[in-house]
Amino acid sequence: MEYFAAPLQNLIEEFEKLPGIGSKTAQRLAFYVLNQPVEKAEKFAHAIVHAKKSLCYCKECQNLSDKEVCNICDNPGRDKSVICVMESPKDVLQMERTNEFKGVYHVLHGAISPMDNIGPDDIRIKELVARVTSGEVQEVIMATNPNLEGETTAMYISKLLKPFGVKVTRIAHGVPVGGELEFADEVTLSKAMQWRVEL
Ligand SMILES: [Zn+2]
Repeated sequence: MEYFAAPLQNLIEEFEKLPGIGSKTAQRLAFYVLNQPVEKAEKFAHAIVHAKKSLCYCKECQNLSDKEVCNICDNPGRDKSVICVMESPKDVLQMERTNEFKGVYHVLHGAISPMDNIGPDDIRIKELVARVTSGEVQEVIMATNPNLEGETTAMYISKLLKPFGVKVTRIAHGVPVGGELEFADEVTLSKAMQWRVEL
């Protein structure tokens, strides 16, 4: 038996498909949208379609962009000889917030994961190799996630890039800033020890 009219049921189901949204939240969001004036609902729907239709992948770094070459790659102030490799556009956003990195990025759109049937050809590795072979690149920083998939991907790419004579580095892992050692897990603590720096 259907509890809701078909269009409402349909809206709830669409919300339910979003990550992290359960049926209760989907209902709440659907009712919220219905309580809005129709112009607001149209603006919301338009924003989704517009984002989907106007965004493409930057032909250099593969990040999401509304132009052929994104703002970061297009910026003459960024150092093209250093590429920071990340798994997703969200990671790039996070790194940009630090204001620390002045090079350019490469977005893989995933990580190698044999468990999920994701191999090297399923993520944007060959595009990275093509950039490295162009000769301008001196360092590739592997900033994939510090989990099994991220480590596997970092190791795979570093082996792949070795023959090109480019320096491949990995971001350091360690104890969180503002944290306390007694709460750090063993793996984090042992990585922090392994990659200690001289003061
Ligand atoms: Zn770009």
